[in-house]
Amino acid sequence: MELKTYRAATMHEALALVRRDLGPDAAVLHTREVPHNRLLSWLTGARQIEVTASVQVNVPSRLPAEPAESDPRESDPPPRREPSRGRPKDTGIRLDAPAGVQGQLSELQNMVRELCRQSRGDKQRELPDSLFRLFAELLDADVGEDLARDLVERVRAEAPDAEQHDPVLLRARVLRMVEADMAVSGPIAVTRGQRRLVALVGPTGVGKTTTIAKLAAHYRLKEKRRVGLITVDTYRIAAVEQLRTYADIIDLPMQVVSTPREMREATRQLDNMDLVLMDTAGRSPRDEIKIQELKAFLTEARADEVHLVLSSGAGARALVQTAQQFAAVGTTALVLTKLDEAPALGNLLPLVRGGRLPVSYLTNGQNVPDDIETAEPGRLARLVLGMDPAQGK
Ligand code: GDP
Repeated sequence: MELKTYRAATMHEALALVRRDLGPDAAVLHTREVPHNRLLSWLTGARQIEVTASVQVNVPSRLPAEPAESDPRESDPPPRREPSRGRPKDTGIRLDAPAGVQGQLSELQNMVRELCRQSRGDKQRELPDSLFRLFAELLDADVGEDLARDLVERVRAEAPDAEQHDPVLLRARVLRMVEADMAVSGPIAVTRGQRRLVALVGPTGVGKTTTIAKLAAHYRLKEKRRVGLITVDTYRIAAVEQLRTYADIIDLPMQVVSTPREMREATRQLDNMDLVLMDTAGRSPRDEIKIQELKAFLTEARADEVHLVLSSGAGARALVQTAQQFAAVGTTALVLTKLDEAPALGNLLPLVRGGRLPVSYLTNGQNVPDDIETAEPGRLARLVLGMDPAQGK
């Protein structure tokens, strides 16, 4: 079967091409907006509509006959017609799609029209070079396109005219903007004589046990607090051994718990500590039963804080989804690990902005106890925007 694709700035023009080339019996099989070079498309509004058509297929067309005129909300001038030929009542594109499909089609059609309208609007508001460079810089930092565009538009709206062409001032402005959006919790507040129980949860391999070792060493050796450990890792024997090794080196009491029932006794044993750090087995966030099981352990332990540990190498969407799924166990803070491994950190922005979970710690290496720092809004903003002087060195 011969399929042909046509690209044009508007649906109307694309259909005209189909008709001119394949004749009135062509069946339109598929339409989509073509992903263009993203910088170019944003700047120039140069989006394209791609139509796939064939004369050899005998299926209902996926497009209504008169795409440009069926929506009364259309505010743009009607698409250009070809005066020499006039406009026949029948566009030549066959239309015999069922009613349900029709609904979806006109929705699609409206979306396409809206996109074309928006891109024409963008074109009229030319972006100064300095803002364009800022946009490109944000994309390079792995900030998603939509978010980068939002930020640049906000900067553009808020920056006084004198600032609009100064890249240094624009960067400073976007940094302040993102910094203001960052929520941090500060370090774990440990008071002598008042036991605080802090659990770390998160998927397997993100660095929970290593982070616990770093925190335990810090509070025990630097802050001279009494620190105890609990592990509820019932699935990975190696993880228990890993924590036990740290407990031995730092000289900390440690309890191993394999059922929620044993938790009460374990916490009683560590009653005289200032800080109890609890390691938990990695849980697949998709595994609802395991999330509930984890919740049972945490409830039994009466955890004061539950820090969700996530690796900064994960994708933006996966990070947000995992955080949502772990929210069911009562997470109170966020630890971001492996910052040293990620080439860019803009993927963290949707997770950390807008005060979802406050960030407590950042870890940037495997070394215990050194490779950890308390999260701070300015540094977080610089990291996620790729504007930290230490990045990439
Ligand atoms: P858990 O399964 O969540 O307890 O993860 P682990 O603590 O066992 O860590 C898994 C691996 O990640 C180990 O090899 C750690 O050394 C490594 N790791 C932990 N934190 C960091 C970090 O901040 N940077 C890097 N590069 N590796 C880390």
